[in-house]
Amino acid sequence: MPIAMIVHGGAWAIPDDQVEAHLAGCRAALETGWAILEGSGSALDACEAAVRLMEDDPIFDAGTGSHLTAAGTVELDAALMDGRTLRYGAVANLRRVRNPISLARRLLEGPGTMLVGEGAEQFAERQGLALCSNEELIVERERQLWARWRAGQSSTDSAAGAEATVGGHDTVGAIALDGAGNLVAANSTGGTPFKLPGRVGDTPLVGCGLFADTNSGAAVCTGWGESIVRVTLARRAVELLERGVPPQAAAELAVRTLARSVSGGSGGCIVLTPDGRVGLAWNTRRMAYAYRQEGGAAVWGV
Ligand code: ASP
Repeated sequence: MPIAMIVHGGAWAIPDDQVEAHLAGCRAALETGWAILEGSGSALDACEAAVRLMEDDPIFDAGTGSHLTAAGTVELDAALMDGRTLRYGAVANLRRVRNPISLARRLLEGPGTMLVGEGAEQFAERQGLALCSNEELIVERERQLWARWRAGQSSTDSAAGAEATVGGHDTVGAIALDGAGNLVAANSTGGTPFKLPGRVGDTPLVGCGLFADTNSGAAVCTGWGESIVRVTLARRAVELLERGVPPQAAAELAVRTLARSVSGGSGGCIVLTPDGRVGLAWNTRRMAYAYRQEGGAAVWGV
């Protein structure tokens, strides 16, 4: 069976001076996942490793370096879905887990469910995953953005607030097809900038932020979560694949539906078929991505 992998580093107006870092992060994640697939590793291992790398890369809104909530804390969501069994592991509202994707993996291979907040962190401890402090997940860039947003909120300086609110949506995601023919979808996020504490977007929701079915294909989404949930974007993209729509057209159609169905609906979508063809589309200014298909070289861009 051919192997293939695609990753993304978020769909939003990535500023010019952050493009290189986004591309480098996507390429590194792809290389890591690809090495696992090439060595006959599983799509689960490839996705987990690729997403972990992006969670640890502070340029992305996932793991360390995530956007802060309105309360100035980091709250993380992630999920992983196995296309062969349709099992998933999902986590939300984590404050003390450095790599949420690895906790999602434990859940997929354990109870196969979604855990949030304290219960999820207790599960992580029982699984022997080290917890960190919330502070350790915060980087200076995000602290400053938050401070400017707060200043804009509490003063008449709405320009500072507005500028900061424009912020990013650089959730990360990955889909891999392994040599055994299994498709796995994964994603991880710190959510939207200055979100309400407790808010959960599309990322950890099966059918919204991700979907994988080895018989038909897989999709992973990024962008404004509230709009993505309303159209169950990932399931919609896979449904198009099921109807025989080619992957590039399926990704484009899904994103067009998002924009048409929800006022202000914005984001991006990556797609991979069971025979290793990719599709990718976004209606934001940019989306960082990298992919590779059996027999070909890595491709990346924004
Ligand atoms: N979809 C994520 C959310 O709404 C954000 C993103 O994709 O960057 O939480």
